[in-house]
Amino acid sequence: MICLAHAQGSHAIDVLEPYPKPRVASTDDVLTLTDGGPAFHLSMMKGHCSQTSALMAQNPPHADPHHDHTACIRSAMDSAERLCRERGVRLTPLRKRVLKQIWQSHEAVKAYELIHQLSSHDHTVKPPTVYRALDFLLAQGLVHRIESLNGYVGCIQPEQAHDTLLLICRQCGVVTELADAGVTQALREKASSQGFALDQPIVEGRGLCRQCAEQRGTQGDGAGEG
Ligand SMILES: [Zn+2]
Ligand SMILES: [Zn+2]
Ligand SMILES: [Zn+2]
Repeated sequence: MICLAHAQGSHAIDVLEPYPKPRVASTDDVLTLTDGGPAFHLSMMKGHCSQTSALMAQNPPHADPHHDHTACIRSAMDSAERLCRERGVRLTPLRKRVLKQIWQSHEAVKAYELIHQLSSHDHTVKPPTVYRALDFLLAQGLVHRIESLNGYVGCIQPEQAHDTLLLICRQCGVVTELADAGVTQALREKASSQGFALDQPIVEGRGLCRQCAEQRGTQGDGAGEG
């Protein structure tokens, strides 16, 4: 199994090797290989290993405002094409353009902004087709809907289904996705203790991103406000 983030280096996980037991969330919709998980018959699968996912959660790739964002876009588009191919669904040219437009930044983009941006270059792009493309991208987990902003942002880990856990900077608007299933699991358990079956936890936090906090000289403060 190949971890996407480590694929450039030497870190590939041989699933036939019993120790250490691999913990890789596969790109397969159903099968997730964990300790004692089902045997693999595929020779190669790609995803993010638990180590990389944890690193991404701690250091989101866009935490640095001077990062190479073209690499983010390229990686997102490559992942989308590969996942859609593996899932047997069509990433049509319009769906691709909508996804690429969403990935132009790490900030939320609203549907009407997308429609305006896309139709200004191509007058055949109509609102219903953009909304249908958004529905597709959401269903495939390639983008997240930000309920509090009524906007969309690209997903950094579309290989695996996960709850929406987003931090939104109230100053610069950058949205940081957290990869931490423990947070929403804790929510589920709390809800369950109230007899509430929580099936769709959506966590959106508002505060200041690291850069904005540093600019204000109040790093660490305000993260829980809003
Ligand atoms: Zn980026
Ligand atoms: Zn995501
Ligand atoms: Zn910020």
